[in-house]
Amino acid sequence: MKDGVYIDGKWRAGGGAAFSKACPATGEASWQGRSADAEDVAAAVVSAHRAFAGWSRTPLSERIDILERYAEELGKRAGDIAEAISRDMGKALWDSQAEAATMKAKIAVSVAALKERAGERDEAAAFGQARLTHRPHGVMAVFGPFNFPGHLPNGHIVPALLAGNTCIFKPSELAPSVAEIMASAFEAAGLPPGCLNVVHGGRETGAALIEAPINGLLFTGSAATGVFFHKHFAGRPEVILALEMGGNNPLIIWDPSDVDAAADIAAQSAFLTTGQRCSCARRLILPSGAFGDAVIEAIVDRAKGIRIGAWNTPDIFMGPLVSEQAAWQAVDFQDMIVSRGGKAILPLTASQSGTGFVSPSIVDVTQAQDIPDEELFGPLIQVVRVSGFDAAIARANATKYGLSGGLVCDDDTLWARAYTEMKAGILNRNRPTAGASGAMPFGGPGLSGNFRPGAYYAADYCAWPQASQLAPKAVRMTAPGFPS
Ligand code: NAD
Repeated sequence: MKDGVYIDGKWRAGGGAAFSKACPATGEASWQGRSADAEDVAAAVVSAHRAFAGWSRTPLSERIDILERYAEELGKRAGDIAEAISRDMGKALWDSQAEAATMKAKIAVSVAALKERAGERDEAAAFGQARLTHRPHGVMAVFGPFNFPGHLPNGHIVPALLAGNTCIFKPSELAPSVAEIMASAFEAAGLPPGCLNVVHGGRETGAALIEAPINGLLFTGSAATGVFFHKHFAGRPEVILALEMGGNNPLIIWDPSDVDAAADIAAQSAFLTTGQRCSCARRLILPSGAFGDAVIEAIVDRAKGIRIGAWNTPDIFMGPLVSEQAAWQAVDFQDMIVSRGGKAILPLTASQSGTGFVSPSIVDVTQAQDIPDEELFGPLIQVVRVSGFDAAIARANATKYGLSGGLVCDDDTLWARAYTEMKAGILNRNRPTAGASGAMPFGGPGLSGNFRPGAYYAADYCAWPQASQLAPKAVRMTAPGFPS
């Protein structure tokens, strides 16, 4: 197990505090080591600046070759990656295996995106030629969340490196193990030392990194942290800041003919990865009356039938939450909304001390007052009953966030309305809110980000455009009133 810092292609113990992560299914340590202190972070930044000089001048074709070899190396390590993620943060092995596959697939998508969105273009002009190219920013700090500790940082690192930047990766302290495997895959792929450095640790390490002379911060995590970074870099437009944050995502179900299919979509939207996806549905909006009652009953059936277990138990749908602390936070959140008038149709319970296991939960908040517009990162969905479709859309949009949303309906006219009126960067019809294509941008308005969506559009924030007018030789300039 490698801890501390990875600088210039070498691991060494960090000078900061020791920390560990426990597997939330067993309570046993899945990672332990020392964090990087401010000196380690400074050394990583120096290394990344030094490496930038060479890497940014390396021809794109060579950078692509190295990243394609990295994809192969990730493929060879897919089993290790999946196990490391599951042990650290608890998700079912099939879920982590899908994450490992997405990490590998990211390279081809990023190459295509760079060529399409941040490539080169020449156009003939009367004076000669107009040319567009893109330049890398420099040293990018990459902060990852715990729920996709490999895929989401990888989704910043790969396009950043392809564009010619170098990176300093601060993995989530709640799921640190995958970083070592990523570093070893880069090494085997021939990435020059210093192009990717890793600094392990929590907030203190992150604080040192944002104080360091970096050229960009690529962040995926909670809105609270993203807003903090936004304030920190206020007045510094020269630092590129890409913020991918959370959501309070609505799912409307409006009279589809297949109640069971609608309930499947709702339950998967709410409970996938134990509700620990940024795109999970947090609010379910249903019509008052018998149809809405039937949908709730069908969702309750599914929630009760969900198999929960440790990550390596066959055929589980849900693992635990990331930590025991997260489990108690989920219980507290439920208690708070119940105290404000919510009715727990299926209560969330935290089952075993020392672990993160919780049960899926459905709380009707139709009559409740003052429910905060906050993301609870767990398997709890709040139900709101409304009398008409106008009210459904209004409730869906009653949030400061705008990450994902969905409508389950057969009616094309209703969908046409939702498609134009619902405020969500990921807006799905008859599909779970938590489904997104890697070949599309990912992000949303409001508190969900700063309009620098990731995934396919990550190419946009990894390079700046440079437009040139090119003439083969200097010729005399003419203009009305200009002396000839
Ligand atoms: P988090 O914001 O707590 O932590 C993310 C990273 O920021 C971690 O590396 C953490 O150490 C660091 N950090 C936190 N506070 C810091 C501070 N004050 N100074 C410096 N560094 C700091 O997020 P999390 O709990 O790991 O992840 C879950 C959150 O991420 C959810 O809100 C979820 O919605 C969001 N998320 C968003 C997306 C997206 O693409 N929009 C995807 C996945 C997760």
